[in-house]
Amino acid sequence: MQTRGSQHNEMKDSLVFSDSTIDQSHYYDPNYIKPLERRSGWTSTQKLLLLFLVAAVIMFVMIIATAIIILMILFFYKSTPTQTVPPLILISIDGFRHDYLEIHDPNGATDISQSIVPNLRKLIQSGVRAKRMIPIFPSKTFPNHYTLVTGLYAESHGIVSNNMWDPEFNATFTLGSEESLKARWWTEGEAFWKTVEKQNLKAGCVFWPGSDAPGNQPTYWYKYDGATPYNTRVDRLFGMMDQPIENRPLFMTTYFEEVDHAGHEFGPRSNEVKEAMKVVDDAIGYLIRGLESRRMFDQTNILIVSDHGMSEIDPSRRIDVDTFLSDPQQFYIVNTGTFVDYWSSNSTAVDVAFSELNSKPSTQQMQLMQTLRKESIPEEWHWKNHRRISSIISVATNPTYSLRISTKPWWGRGDHGYLNTLEEMGAIFFARGPSFKQGYFKQEPFSNVNVYPLMASLLQIVPSANNGSIQVLQDVLK
Ligand SMILES: [Zn+2]
Repeated sequence: MQTRGSQHNEMKDSLVFSDSTIDQSHYYDPNYIKPLERRSGWTSTQKLLLLFLVAAVIMFVMIIATAIIILMILFFYKSTPTQTVPPLILISIDGFRHDYLEIHDPNGATDISQSIVPNLRKLIQSGVRAKRMIPIFPSKTFPNHYTLVTGLYAESHGIVSNNMWDPEFNATFTLGSEESLKARWWTEGEAFWKTVEKQNLKAGCVFWPGSDAPGNQPTYWYKYDGATPYNTRVDRLFGMMDQPIENRPLFMTTYFEEVDHAGHEFGPRSNEVKEAMKVVDDAIGYLIRGLESRRMFDQTNILIVSDHGMSEIDPSRRIDVDTFLSDPQQFYIVNTGTFVDYWSSNSTAVDVAFSELNSKPSTQQMQLMQTLRKESIPEEWHWKNHRRISSIISVATNPTYSLRISTKPWWGRGDHGYLNTLEEMGAIFFARGPSFKQGYFKQEPFSNVNVYPLMASLLQIVPSANNGSIQVLQDVLK
């Protein structure tokens, strides 16, 4: 029986035999090339070809590798911010009084884990907080939002109240009305997004008063819709930031109104305000996490402001101004609450009303309100030289009293619009980012007209003429 090994040896022997016999007949043939030589030997042409092939393969691999490296660099370049100037996000928390953190979040100051607004606290701890920012008069929403982005007082930017009568247009501006979106109301001040665009940069607003008026809109804008969830507003900011660098806005805004609404309905010290602060803080947290995931949190300047504060009002502290007038029907009254304007084309009726409003209120009422002719309005209000301000006005001088019309039902437990220097009207100013100091508290109150030049300085652009000064806020910068 053959083993597998012996069988193998036998085959090997026969191959040796076969091989040694095949070539014999060709041995002397000069054209014959032995098969063994053909298998193991290379001509110089073949060697050259082989060399060329190997070189070609190496070059191909090198080209592919280089292309991959270039693509990786390009990808990294695109996903990493290369703007030398940090982008700026301006956030308004409407009606966030300067001392709401002390009123509603006393424990958060020393222990962030105890805070009801940990995200705001996180920003403040690593950034700047001002004790109080002073709004312009009147301490109302639209005038102050427009001052924040123009650096102008109301008489200069023309948005003199939330509700306005313009004798030249023969039209009334009320919040949210179609009239309020007409370009003609917004032509007197240059909004910061326009300043940005004039210098070939882009800007985007996810809501800001004036940003949705035709002719006044920034590169990216949204028509105001209070029903838009806060995270959606923040997502829209991310949508802008995630664009190719050449389309990315350097200046962005967004706006949260819930704290203001709660303050109006339930009063500044209500639990509802506290709950609204938490809701806004959640949106701020969502913004911080989104910026962190984009590696942008430490590269972005964030400015959080409010337009005004909030004061406690009560139906027992009501003064009905129409009861002092012998002929209230003579007047078109556009604003009530913190101040009243009386519009009439009958100058005699205006004179009579001025006299009545200064003689008929009781002594106590006279201490709580003041009726002025337009020309006597104090210069420091910067609310005088504009056709949208009526020839006589009454102002509530005590921020817990309301000037009303007797036929209208009472509403609300909080209001703003009072004299701008009153503490209750004070607004917030928080800032955080690469340009700002860390853990800095600005003790000295300052006017919000100074925010516009600060923003121009942050973006290293030239501001338009304004009523503010960069010197006022220089100390918050590194
Ligand atoms: Zn407001």
